[in-house]
Amino acid sequence: MIIYKSPSEVDRIRMAGRIVAGTIDRVLSKVRPGVTTAFLDSVAEEYIRERGATPSFKGYRGFPASICTSLNDEIVHGIPSEKRVLREGDLLSLDFGAIWEGFHADSAVTVFVGDPPSSEAEKLVRVTEEALEAGIAQIRPGGRLSDISHAVQQVVEGAGFSVVREYVGHGVGRNLHEDPQIPNYGPPGRGPEMRPGLVVAVEPMVNVGDWPTRVLADDWTVVTEDGSLSAHFEHTIAVTEDGHEVLTARG
Ligand code: MG
Ligand code: MG
Repeated sequence: MIIYKSPSEVDRIRMAGRIVAGTIDRVLSKVRPGVTTAFLDSVAEEYIRERGATPSFKGYRGFPASICTSLNDEIVHGIPSEKRVLREGDLLSLDFGAIWEGFHADSAVTVFVGDPPSSEAEKLVRVTEEALEAGIAQIRPGGRLSDISHAVQQVVEGAGFSVVREYVGHGVGRNLHEDPQIPNYGPPGRGPEMRPGLVVAVEPMVNVGDWPTRVLADDWTVVTEDGSLSAHFEHTIAVTEDGHEVLTARG
């Protein structure tokens, strides 16, 4: 069941979104070779708590950290660790969530540690962000939910990459993950009609190789089955009277 948000509820998600955006900027300023993913997690948690918010992910279904840090062939849900030291050329996906007055916002970015290791890796990151923007461009009252899915898939497959099937975007509100699910693939013109008060997280996960995934023995980290590189971008977006508003937009 889709839970539509009142304007004051959207205000609270917007505030959570601002804190998430600030957290991303702070953490990205610390990304460099030699830093551990556990350090980035501590930077994020401190930033979120200093602003009176709570990390969405810590304790979520037992997740042990405040952010997800997924390297190279890891797609999503990587666990920050003192043992994971960033190296020049790593592809680092960072996923963030914060709760403000009971409401979540959710956003992810992918960056290189130092310079990109290849032009293909650079293209992967660019295309994944473009796919997110194409999906967001479909968000407006009267549109159908799968218009987002289709737009993402077109950009990704048009560039010769594949979209992950097993993990999808979602509604956001009092719960981190609410209805509706938003796949990153499919035909346009299907699913519920979008209307004001709908708040969604759109999050393409894009692989250089094929789309199948598997989960590592830690029961969290999702990797590409073929070992190819993967990137992930995500924003939380509200449907407004005349279009949409990206609630996790960064300066
Ligand atoms: Mg996320
Ligand atoms: Mg999400």
